Amino acid sequence: MASIHSYNFAGKRALIRVDFNVPINKETLEVTDDTRIRAAAPTIKHIIDQGGSVVLMSHLGRPKDGYEQKFSMENIVDHVSKVIGTPVKFGGDCIGEGAYEMSKALKAGEVMILDNVRFYKEETAGDEAFAEKLSKHGDVYVNDAFGTAHRAHASTTVAAKFFPNDKLFGFLIEGEIESVDKVLNSAEKPVTAIVGGAKVSSKIVIIERLLDRVDNLIIGGGMAYTFVKASGGQIGNSLVEDDFLEMAKSIMEQAKAKGVNLVIPTDTIIADEFSNDANTQEVQIDAIPDGWMGLDVGPNTIDACREVIVNSKVILWNGPMGVFEMESFQKGTVSVANAIVDATSNGAFSLIGGGDSVAAINQFNLADEVSYVSTGGGAMLEYLEGKELPGIKAVRE
Ligand code: AMP
Repeated sequence: MASIHSYNFAGKRALIRVDFNVPINKETLEVTDDTRIRAAAPTIKHIIDQGGSVVLMSHLGRPKDGYEQKFSMENIVDHVSKVIGTPVKFGGDCIGEGAYEMSKALKAGEVMILDNVRFYKEETAGDEAFAEKLSKHGDVYVNDAFGTAHRAHASTTVAAKFFPNDKLFGFLIEGEIESVDKVLNSAEKPVTAIVGGAKVSSKIVIIERLLDRVDNLIIGGGMAYTFVKASGGQIGNSLVEDDFLEMAKSIMEQAKAKGVNLVIPTDTIIADEFSNDANTQEVQIDAIPDGWMGLDVGPNTIDACREVIVNSKVILWNGPMGVFEMESFQKGTVSVANAIVDATSNGAFSLIGGGDSVAAINQFNLADEVSYVSTGGGAMLEYLEGKELPGIKAVRE
């Protein structure tokens, strides 16, 4: 496998699969959050600085059947151009004549973008003939779309096979892989994982895998109540998955057997309805009255989590501690975020990986104060589960 660090892009057209599936204002058609564009910029700049040219391809939204203006990449061309500091040409239909003429004529340092690859249903079907057509736009294939690396689509996976010796990862994917590997295979200890979020069922594979790799495992969010109930606690009307009580018990036993310090909340903030304006109380987590539900962790749990986190050398955070979207129930999640920031400033490596903890760290404006914030929700979860992501495999093999 080639490497972006050593590959000579001079005089080559790089076909880069980026993840520019960015939110767009429905009325003005302007980009409202350009995180994903900024994340791909280093790869694009590196290639044009070396004298290569760039053909960008991505999906945007979920078009139903063919072209729809609101999902056209044309809407984001100016924004991409601003972010990378280079004019970007719009190639139109990703396998249209015009696009081929444009990509063939690209000069060193020039950048163009193809229209939404999902205007063709062959994209999500992983159609080989379509992937081959896309491959004609480049001399070298660069995958820098971590957010879609878990999909075996034409542009994310199948296209790689048409570049047997000229396929590589961009800086973004490389960074994502390196940071997860740093956490999962860390020689430095203690390693702490904080797993929160709504449901234990969606995180079970990750939790079991982490038990072999971490010293501390903090459980938070809605899933904590399934653990509390499994231990015989009264959880009132809190979120629970009764089908997973046995699994929760098994996790507690496995943690004990493996010498993992499993931190389960001891106190909680309860509410009499699922609302920011609900009446609240602070109670022991195993003594929640009927009619009340736990929506955040309590102060003793916050202190216990902080103690573990600030003494960690490596930290993975996946999933919020409570309903952080509501101000009344965000203290637990804010406190974990702050503890991670403090540990990071003391030299720990911290990865915020997957879904809502990424949303939380961004909401609290702390993304720049942790080591790495993943850009791939579902992809990061699958990578943490130990699955081989098709987009990554295709470049590696
Ligand atoms: P996930 O996507 O599984 O990481 O779950 C994230 C969601 O879990 C967020 O929207 C939170 O509001 C929600 N959540 C966290 N704690 C609780 C709780 N105690 N009860 C209900 N929902 C929760």
